[in-house]
Amino acid sequence: MSSSASLLENNFNDTVNDAEEFPKTKQSKAKAYDFVEDCESLEEFKKLIKNLHFDNVSWNFHGTNKLADCDKHTFDCKFQKKGCKKSIYLKIKNDEINGSVYISDNEHSNHSNDETVTSVA
Ligand SMILES: [Zn+2]
Repeated sequence: MSSSASLLENNFNDTVNDAEEFPKTKQSKAKAYDFVEDCESLEEFKKLIKNLHFDNVSWNFHGTNKLADCDKHTFDCKFQKKGCKKSIYLKIKNDEINGSVYISDNEHSNHSNDETVTSVA
């Protein structure tokens, strides 16, 4: 009888420590954004964000950009402080209530694995 079976048990460490290697992009200028969906209002957008509708993560309000013909309400991924660069915004044209949701096309990164994050009051 061999006892080699016990060797199959390998300790899988949960810490993700390998830095992802991104292909070197020559021009990393402004973030590119992809259209996600239409949204009926800023209130609705905030509601969707609260319900983790987008990427199943929380987003923190970043600011409103007032442009010539529209307002952009930008939110950052809640892991932004840890280094995540993902952001999302709702674009509402002047004199309109409904808008369009756009999300940056970069990937989420630097999310902590444990969910014992103390929420900021
Ligand atoms: Zn993120």
